[in-house]
Amino acid sequence: MFDNLSDKLNSVFKKLKGHGKLSEKNIDEGLREVRMALLEADAHYRVVKQLIADIRARAIGQEVLESLTPAQQVIKIVNEELTALMGSEKEALNLSGAMPQAVMLVGLQGSGKTTTAGKLAVHLRKNGKKPYLVPLDVYRPAAIDQLKKLGEQLSVPVFDSSPEMDPVEIAQKARQKAPSEGCDTLVLDTAGRLHVDSELMNELSRIQKAIEPSDVLLIADAMTGQDAVNMAESFDQALDLGGIVLTKMDGDARGGAALSIKAVTGKPVKFIGVGEKTNALEEFHPDRMASRILG
Ligand code: GDP
Repeated sequence: MFDNLSDKLNSVFKKLKGHGKLSEKNIDEGLREVRMALLEADAHYRVVKQLIADIRARAIGQEVLESLTPAQQVIKIVNEELTALMGSEKEALNLSGAMPQAVMLVGLQGSGKTTTAGKLAVHLRKNGKKPYLVPLDVYRPAAIDQLKKLGEQLSVPVFDSSPEMDPVEIAQKARQKAPSEGCDTLVLDTAGRLHVDSELMNELSRIQKAIEPSDVLLIADAMTGQDAVNMAESFDQALDLGGIVLTKMDGDARGGAALSIKAVTGKPVKFIGVGEKTNALEEFHPDRMASRILG
């Protein structure tokens, strides 16, 4: 994950360490390289600009320039600022409100929504919840079947949706049926399209208003970099997201989406997908991710 960025940052830090005491000029040279590395990682240019300004403001202070280990101090500042950029604290799934609760998953087709629905069911079960998978993609019968199969594999009940039903009606029926299935948390796997379009947004907004899910998670493919960030902005405008799941982080060599999506949208990354298997979902810890990036 993000090997390129880690290598580049480490080479900057190595150079800084080589200087012993640091001058303002040394720091500016180092930060120029940090900036380049972040832009090459496909982080959003505005986010990079602000980040470098924040790091610089702290790094050229007395505390660093007069320190006996100035390079170490700079690394610490970069680590702290990267952590802050990605959200500081871990943000948990919101499961407040009346039972049965609902978590609504939205996103483009192919982003990993259905896979994440299965992973989330496993996560919920591990945390003492009783998930109920609810397929709402009535336009693609194959998507309904995919979730049914996943539910069977995981021994998680799946609502018997049929393509003739309206998605709002399905979600309402699933909520009524949940207690008799022994379930307390609905995982709504909504329809996706190849591109953001107003018809889809209207449908998702209708579901959100009718069901009032405790959390709405955007499933975004990390490998699409800044496209994922732009897409997240569009979904957030229409739906007011509760958080983001960045999928396919295992295949993302660059890291631009992870670095920018919170700063651009204001919405926290709550989970990351790190593989195709149903256990390949991790809670997102900004501090751990920053440490991973810094190697
Ligand atoms: P949907 O159309 O949004 O429901 O997407 P799917 O859940 O069908 O996933 C599309 C493809 O992405 C499938 O081949 C999944 O196995 C794959 N996928 C989903 N999440 C991840 C992940 O975190 N890592 C990897 N490597 N593949 C993933």
